[in-house]
Amino acid sequence: MLDIKEVAQNVYMLKIPVPINVDAVNLYLFAGEVPTLLDAGTNTPDVIEAVHEGMKKVGIKKLEQVLVTHWHVDHAGAANTFAQEGAQVYVSSRDHHEWASFVHGQAFSRLNDWATQEWGVPEIEIPGMLKISKRLQHLTALPNQVTFIEPEQTIMAGNDLLRIISTPGHTAGHLSFYNEKDGLLFSGDMLLPDEIPYPGIWQEEGRVVSGMPSYLESLKNIAALQTKVYLPGHGLPGENLIERCLEIKEQLYQQMTEHCPADTVYLSASNYGDQRIHPGVLFVKLHYIYGWEQLKREAG
Ligand SMILES: [Zn+2]
Repeated sequence: MLDIKEVAQNVYMLKIPVPINVDAVNLYLFAGEVPTLLDAGTNTPDVIEAVHEGMKKVGIKKLEQVLVTHWHVDHAGAANTFAQEGAQVYVSSRDHHEWASFVHGQAFSRLNDWATQEWGVPEIEIPGMLKISKRLQHLTALPNQVTFIEPEQTIMAGNDLLRIISTPGHTAGHLSFYNEKDGLLFSGDMLLPDEIPYPGIWQEEGRVVSGMPSYLESLKNIAALQTKVYLPGHGLPGENLIERCLEIKEQLYQQMTEHCPADTVYLSASNYGDQRIHPGVLFVKLHYIYGWEQLKREAG
C-alpha cells in the first residue's frame, strides 16, 4: 500500500522503499499551479509506479518539474524517467557534475585514487568497494537536459515559493528547499532525524577535502533560518530543527574528540586491519573518519 501523507497544504510526503541499504526514501509531491516532485527515488519500476499512484491520488496529471536535493541514486535516480514524461529536472551544477561522473564511470577511478592515496586502503579492499558502488549505477540515469539551480534563487513548487539553500556536506552541491512563508525546510539528506549523513569527499581548488567542515557550516546556516519543521529525505518530519542541528553538531565533536587516529584512515576504519569488514561498512566509516580528522586539523 502506498504510504502517502499530506504534510502541508497541497504537499504530500511519499515514503517509498528503495532497493538499497537505507530506510525508505521520502519524496514530496506538490499539487497546485506547478505540479512538482521533490526528489525522485531510484530508477526502478516499483518506485516509478508508486510516484504515478501518488500523483493520481493527489490529482496531478502531469509533473512539470523534478527538484533534486542531491545526486545520490535514492534521490535523483528516477529523475530521467520523469523527464521523459515531460518534467524539467532542476539540480545544482556541482551535483550534476558528480552525477554525470558516476553515470559515466569516472567516479570509480577517482574513488580508487582517493581510497589508496588519501585513506591508505590496501589494493585487496578496492574491488569490493568498487563493486558495491558500481552495483548502484543501474539505479540511476542522467537526463539529457537539466536546468541548473543555484543557492538563493527561488522556484515555484505547487502553490509555494521555495528558496534554494546551499547545504553542502553529504555531497558537494547538496541543496535544501525552504518554504519561508510556512516555515518548512525540505532538507534532503542534509538533516535527518535518526542519523548523521556520512560526509562526502570531493576536490576543491585542486585539493581533496572531506565534506565534514562544510556540513557543520550548513548546519549553522539552516539553524539560522529560525524555522522549526524540517521534511527530511529519510525518516519522519521533525519539529525541532534547531535542536536537531545542535545535537548533531555535539555528536560530531564528541566523535572527533574520541577518535584516536591510526597511521592511516583505513587502519582506523578497519580496527587496525585485524579483521576484514564488509566493504559497504568500510566505505561509510572511511568517510566519517576522514571527516573527523579534517576537523581536528582545522581545529589545530
Ligand atoms: Zn538518501
